[in-house]
Amino acid sequence: KWQKIDIHHQSQDELHEMELTFNQMIDYLKVSYEKQEMFVSDASHELKTPIQIIKSYAQLLERRANANPELIKESVLAIDSEANRMNRLVEQMLSLAKHKQLQSKVPVSMVKVVDEIVKTFDGITERDIQIKKENHTMMVKADHDQMKQLFYILMDNALKYSQDTIDVRLFEEAGKAVVEVQDYGKGISQQDLKHIFDRFYRIDKARNRETGGTGLGLAIAKSIAEANDGEISVISELHSGSTFTVKFPILTEE
Ligand code: ADP
Repeated sequence: KWQKIDIHHQSQDELHEMELTFNQMIDYLKVSYEKQEMFVSDASHELKTPIQIIKSYAQLLERRANANPELIKESVLAIDSEANRMNRLVEQMLSLAKHKQLQSKVPVSMVKVVDEIVKTFDGITERDIQIKKENHTMMVKADHDQMKQLFYILMDNALKYSQDTIDVRLFEEAGKAVVEVQDYGKGISQQDLKHIFDRFYRIDKARNRETGGTGLGLAIAKSIAEANDGEISVISELHSGSTFTVKFPILTEE
């Protein structure tokens, strides 16, 4: 909060205190500005790749206008797929930007939200998703759509980066509603774990282009958790699997 201060009536100590606060504020602004700049630069870089690919296929089509139908089909498919990728990137970037502003926090049952997401995935995958719950509601105060998006991201990743069963556990611990999503897949090295929630961070960039990853999913998950007073963490071991844990304060009846 900004306050107007009359500096003529402050003692030396108070002035020194103000200087410290002022310097802290400048540092804070500098870091936010640098973060913002970094985001814009990373985002432009990420968008440039699909644009380049689209351009080169368009040029190929132009140069070989009477090309064989195979080449035309391949180019059109590639253009379409890269345009879809750009679309996903832009949607996810917007989603990342709006979490803090456009929130409507209401009492939400974590059990219900997780059940809904698991049902959605059950409908589209043959994979075995085991769900264990102690309680039937686990009420928290949060934005309903954002909670759905958070668990969608974790389930989607668990399925993408593993081949076996997914275990989902819901329980209460020390006043918190806890959800664990565990997979037994490729896991994450200790080195990569440090960056896993960073925007645009992908472990296997080349392979990830095929699976359509943008490296924004976990950054969005973290931003949602924080914007709703929750927290998210992960433990993982390479080739054994990962467990993502999400905790939110339980809503107590007033
Ligand atoms: P992406 O869109 O690439 O999946 P995320 O931000 O969701 O982006 O994840 C960042 C990276 O973290 C992924 O590219 C992947 O390498 C790794 N990752 C995420 N979830 C898992 C998981 N359950 N198991 C192994 N690696 C994971």
